[in-house]
Amino acid sequence: MNQYIRYGIYKPEEIFPFLVDQSLVRDMKTLGIKHADPLFKKATEKNYDGHSVKMYSTRYHLFKKNLVCVGCGMRGSYFALEKDKKAVADRCHFNLYGVNGDKEILFTQDHIVPISKGGASNALSNLQTMCTVCNHKKADNHTVKLSDEQELMCLIREYNKADEKATKLGTNLAKVSEALWRSGTISLDRLLELLPVGYASFKLRALNKKQKILMLGEYE
Ligand SMILES: [Zn+2]
Repeated sequence: MNQYIRYGIYKPEEIFPFLVDQSLVRDMKTLGIKHADPLFKKATEKNYDGHSVKMYSTRYHLFKKNLVCVGCGMRGSYFALEKDKKAVADRCHFNLYGVNGDKEILFTQDHIVPISKGGASNALSNLQTMCTVCNHKKADNHTVKLSDEQELMCLIREYNKADEKATKLGTNLAKVSEALWRSGTISLDRLLELLPVGYASFKLRALNKKQKILMLGEYE
């Protein structure tokens, strides 16, 4: 089941020489030239067999830099001019594909630092080429990590429900939080946001302070 309607197949060398630099797009915006302006279209779009394609997408620039999946080493070998079946008003755009045996594999841009962890959403420096097979594997791992956060939320609810803030629950909460923090699963800021004020958050703050002192060689 394909989500795209396909209009044609193109070699990378039919696309890359015609990419439009994003600084040009920024300059035109500064000059007040809107996307709908014929001048803007003329400068940033190219016609492929009767279909007008925007040529400044970050994705194309990323693929020009690297056609190889950072996960498995598969090479993206051709572009397909396609349109999303569901998005009726959508324009034609290029999708990069590689071939594995008799399977066609779609390529995508992957955020090196996830947006959820403060990574830039559209900066070329935070993007890497990845096939969708590797991208889904990465997403699956992320789901496992999310369930850690859910587990923590259960503990917090339990702690909050307890009549007396039982020492054992507090210790447990501190232990789990510390493990999540040390493994890089949840950032310290996020943990402190989630944790109720009490033993666990106090302990994490203290640990972080100690770590900073060790790292920076600072003494108080
Ligand atoms: Zn891959």
